[in-house]
Amino acid sequence: LLSAVPQIGEIAQITAEQLVNIGSQDIDEEIWIKLSCRVNELLNCDDIDGIVITHGTDTMEESAFFLQLTTNSTKAVVLTGAMRPSTSLSADGPLNLYNAVAVAACDDASDRGVMVTMNNSIFSATDVTKMHTTDIDAFQAPENGKIGSITGSKVTFNTPPYHHTLTFPIKDGIKLPKVGIVYSYGGIDPDMVTFMIENKYRGIVHAGVGNGNIHKNIFPILEEGAREGILIVRSSRVAAGPVTLENEVDDNKYHFVASQGLNPQKSRILLMLSLTKTHNWEEVQRYFNMFVL
Ligand code: GLU
Repeated sequence: LLSAVPQIGEIAQITAEQLVNIGSQDIDEEIWIKLSCRVNELLNCDDIDGIVITHGTDTMEESAFFLQLTTNSTKAVVLTGAMRPSTSLSADGPLNLYNAVAVAACDDASDRGVMVTMNNSIFSATDVTKMHTTDIDAFQAPENGKIGSITGSKVTFNTPPYHHTLTFPIKDGIKLPKVGIVYSYGGIDPDMVTFMIENKYRGIVHAGVGNGNIHKNIFPILEEGAREGILIVRSSRVAAGPVTLENEVDDNKYHFVASQGLNPQKSRILLMLSLTKTHNWEEVQRYFNMFVL
């Protein structure tokens, strides 16, 4: 990849290593932990100013958010990828890689947590999501927008630095609790949820309709799950907007957690990490409240 973009040598000194070689559709918790441990090691090296991670686009937002929650450094960590294959006309990978290095090497990038750069835009790992299956402009931050852009090799940020304070320390070999996502739809079958309860999931993220609303076919099952100590997070299948506390659902009564600004896949990551610290729904809600839109 680096030899395809010799211009990178003009803006940074690079050392490269390969942690895994997979399609990102096959990512899992073990790889996230391995990646996070290595990134933390590198962030502690005095001779490293920033880190670029090349990643498949399918789950890039999940890996970026996992790193956001498990690293704590003022140095830039930047993920990037490509929407077009390297063999296609106007492949976007080389420029995306160049841009990611330009961001990681830029003084202004310090204290902005984990970022994703795609198609000349810079996003916070917290806000970014893949919004299109094929476009080179696939990555967007539907609520907060991009935090900066790259033109030529000039990196410009349009937000002030922000130090992300919520960090879950991760050790090699740690096992994360079983957390699943149930996607709601008209007439959803209760089996979709009873399966998770019977199979001892410790947390369930409900990708609900609208502002995290729950179909009557599964509401009582989730309610019973919460009573038994399973953490239930109400997120939404809607692409933008928050899931707010106490809207149509009485979260306080049912001990449900509202996902605030996090989509279902990011809610799952925060819930897994939260469960390494607490099983108290109010404490978990406090973690999610850090992502109010
Ligand atoms: N599906 C693969 C992945 O996410 C490659 C396609 C892409 O990066 O867009 O790793």
